[in-house]
Amino acid sequence: MEVTFNTQHSTLNNPHKGLYLHIPFCKQKCHYCNFHFSTSRRLQPQMVDALIRELELQEDYLDSSPLGSIYLGGGTPSLLTRAELSRLFSAIHRLHKVDDGAEITLEANPDDITPDMLAFWKKVGINRLSVGIQSFHEADLLWMNRAHDARQAHQCLEWIKASEIPEFTIDLIYGSPTTSMQQWEENMDIFFKYDIPHLSAYCLTVEPHTALAGRIRKGKSDAPDDDLATEQFLFLMDRMEASGYDHYEISNYGKPGHHARHNTHYWQGIPYLGIGPSAHSYNGTTRQWNLAHNPQYIKAILEEDKIPYEQESLDLPTRYNEYIMTGLRTMWGISIDRIKENYNEYFALFSQELQRLSQEGLVKLIEDQVVLTRAGKLQADGVAARLFMV
Ligand code: SF4
Repeated sequence: MEVTFNTQHSTLNNPHKGLYLHIPFCKQKCHYCNFHFSTSRRLQPQMVDALIRELELQEDYLDSSPLGSIYLGGGTPSLLTRAELSRLFSAIHRLHKVDDGAEITLEANPDDITPDMLAFWKKVGINRLSVGIQSFHEADLLWMNRAHDARQAHQCLEWIKASEIPEFTIDLIYGSPTTSMQQWEENMDIFFKYDIPHLSAYCLTVEPHTALAGRIRKGKSDAPDDDLATEQFLFLMDRMEASGYDHYEISNYGKPGHHARHNTHYWQGIPYLGIGPSAHSYNGTTRQWNLAHNPQYIKAILEEDKIPYEQESLDLPTRYNEYIMTGLRTMWGISIDRIKENYNEYFALFSQELQRLSQEGLVKLIEDQVVLTRAGKLQADGVAARLFMV
């Protein structure tokens, strides 16, 4: 079944709130990955039924204004069949108004992208792709255990550029032991050759309980080299800024007018609903997260009609710490007025630490905003931690 959706819904005043759908299946396990997914796709049909039922159960989680963004992440949402994707979008449009200009993103892996699928994704309303390229070098892709090869990384970009999907971004990883400085420079050259409007560039980190952590422990993989990662990050910042991209979040660069709206709204504390196992939701006062277990999630939803989730109320220190952490990572920084207005009891301690950070050259003031300096960006999490209130 193929369906075309009319996304021309009414425009109300607050087209910002977001909807996230987590698609927890992958073809194979990338060694560095700690997201929630399964490489067994046996339960994929039931998972789609459960996602649709959760959408129904959560219909009133957000207010009734139109959705400003929809994001299908994972896992690998580009593994969804046409029929599954059609059913999901049919349910979304039945249950929510979608703003005329909503950003609708699908995370896609190079090996799933074909001209036919691009045309289909456009037809269901997807207007932005986030492509997991990671590297254009075969040795990196093999080391990471990616499902695609370098030829597919190039080919999919040719096809996307020839398609009618207007926005796209790619992910690249730096700091891998297989990525020399020269290879990183070549990855950047290829990025510019395709004139891609947005880049998410992540430093390889070794998360506990990943295949990579085990491989390093057993001596099967080298550990990342922190100095090389720093050199590659500095090179990345210089090239992106010199080429007119805004470094608008620590891992994200966009040409003006091409920033990712869905993620920017997360960082701005705008409410969102997350559907699917492990997905998080936020309504301004509480945060909740679904159970990260595919069979148990499906069973709870389809057999008991219950969403399996945990919830926390966001008390004052938590809200303050989250604002510091997310704000500092963006180019808009932390607003001193907002700290005074919403967190006045912390203002004296905040100001003292701010002065020290400024003297150390890690932050600077631009009007009322505190932003990271270049040196501060190298230790963003550490700078934020120094401003936290416990
Ligand atoms: S495709 Fe993405 S979600 Fe799946 S294992 Fe690789 S990095 Fe993780």
